[in-house]
Amino acid sequence: MSVAIIGAGASGLVCAIEIKRLNREIPVTLYEANPRVGKKILATGNGRCNLTNMSAHKQGYRNMGFARYALEAFTPQSNIEFFNSLGLFTREDGCGRVYPLSNQASGVLDVLRLAAEREGVNIVTDCHVDNAQHGKDGFYVCGRVYDNLVLATGGKAAPSQGSDGSGYKLLKQLGHKVTTLAPSLVQLETENRQYPKQLKGVRCECEMSLVTDGRLTVQKKGELLFADYGLSGIVSMEMSAYISPHLAKGGSKPTVYIDFVTSMTRDVMLENIKSLDGNMRIEDILSGFMPRKIGQVIIKEVKINSQDKLSQIKHNKLKELVSVCKGFGFTVTGTKGYDFAQVTSGGADTKEFDRETMQSKKVRGLYCIGELLDVDGDCGGYNLNWAWSSGRLAAKSITEQK
Ligand SMILES: Cc1cc2nc3c(=O)[nH]c(=O)nc-3n(C[C@H](O)[C@H](O)[C@H](O)COP(=O)(O)OP(=O)(O)OC[C@H]3O[C@@H](n4cnc5c(N)ncnc54)[C@H](O)[C@@H]3O)c2cc1C
Repeated sequence: MSVAIIGAGASGLVCAIEIKRLNREIPVTLYEANPRVGKKILATGNGRCNLTNMSAHKQGYRNMGFARYALEAFTPQSNIEFFNSLGLFTREDGCGRVYPLSNQASGVLDVLRLAAEREGVNIVTDCHVDNAQHGKDGFYVCGRVYDNLVLATGGKAAPSQGSDGSGYKLLKQLGHKVTTLAPSLVQLETENRQYPKQLKGVRCECEMSLVTDGRLTVQKKGELLFADYGLSGIVSMEMSAYISPHLAKGGSKPTVYIDFVTSMTRDVMLENIKSLDGNMRIEDILSGFMPRKIGQVIIKEVKINSQDKLSQIKHNKLKELVSVCKGFGFTVTGTKGYDFAQVTSGGADTKEFDRETMQSKKVRGLYCIGELLDVDGDCGGYNLNWAWSSGRLAAKSITEQK
C-alpha cells in the first residue's frame, strides 16, 4: 500500500508522520509546492503559533456536524500529547489558547519537519501538483501511481504562503463538489468610513451583534480595533466568518451593532450617569466608560455638544446617548480579501466525505483534510486544531484499511 499527500502544511505533515508512526512499512510521499515545508505555520499566532484550543472538541467551528467525530477522536489534549511525543511542550494562556513553551512558531514547524524526516517520509518540495487522476491502478500523481491520495492543500487564504486554491481544482478533477468559497477571519469594511477613520488605532473590548435581513444572527465578545477602512480586531475577524459567506452568496449588506459597555444594562448605565455631579461635562463622563475618542464620536452621533454639562442634557437625549453606547451600528459593505484572511470559508463538500474516516464516498482511497474541507473555526487555535485532528484521523483510517 502507498500514499501520496499533496500539501506539506499543518494537516499534510501531521498526516504523513502519523501514518509512518502507525505503520512504518507504508511508503508515504509528501508533495509541496514551496521550496520548504510548512511555511504558513511560521506566520500563525503572530509568529507564536496558537496551536490548539482546549475547547476545540466541543465548539468553535462552522459545520460541527461533520467535524465533531474527528475533533472528539483527536481532542486538543490528544494533539498536545502528540506534540509532546515529538519533543514540543506547550502552555495554556488561561483562556484555553495553547502555545509552544518557546513561544515560537518555528519550534512547531521544526518538530514536524524533523519527525517527518526521521520517520522516513519521502518529501518532494518545489513541486506544484496541477493534476491528479484516478484510474484502475490507483492515483496518478507526478508520473507515479499510489494506492491512496490525501488532498491537504489548504484553501485560498494567505496565498503568499503557498495555499493558492489549486486544491479545489484537484477536487473537481476527481469528481468532487466545492461549496461557495469566501475569505474568513478577516477585517470588515464598513459603509460610513468617517467614524472608523477618526477612531483609527483605537482598541476596546466590546460585544458585537450581527443583524442580517433584520434578524439577529450572532453575538461575539472580544477586542475591537478601528481601522481607516472599517473594523478589525479578533471580534471583527470572528464576525467575518458569518458575514463573508452571507455576502458571497449575494446576501444584503448586514449591520454590526457594537456594545461598548458590556458590563451594564442600559438602565444601570443611565442610572450611573445620572448619579454624577451635574457640573461634569458629558465628554468627561463618557471617558469613564470607554476610550475617550469613542465617547467623542458617540456624542457627535447623537448631536450633543461635547462641552455640555450633565445638568444641561435632557433625559431623553441621555437615553439616546446610552442606547448608542450599547449599540452603535455600522453597515458592512464587504471584507478584506484572501490576502488578509486567516482561513477559507467553504471548501470540499462534506456531504461527499465520510466524517469518521475523511475518505471520499465517491472515490475509494481518496482523502481530504484540513482547510480544504468545508470546515472553518474561530480565532484562538481552532483551525490548526482541525488540521491536526483531521490529518490524524485520515492517517488512522488509511492504516486500518482492509
Ligand atoms: C496569518 C495567519 C495566522 C494564523 N494563525 C493561526 C493560529 O494562530 N492558530 C490557528 O489555529 N490557525 C491559524 N491560522 C490558520 C491556519 O494556519 C490554517 O487553518 C492551517 O494552516 C490549515 O492547514 P492546512 O494543512 O489545511 O493548509 P496549509 O497550512 O495552508 O498547507 C497547505 C500546503 O499545501 C501546499 N500546496 C497547496 N497547493 C498545492 C499544490 N497544488 N501542490 C503542492 N503543494 C500545494 C501549500 O504550499 C501549503 O504548504 C492562521 C492563518 C494565517 C494566514
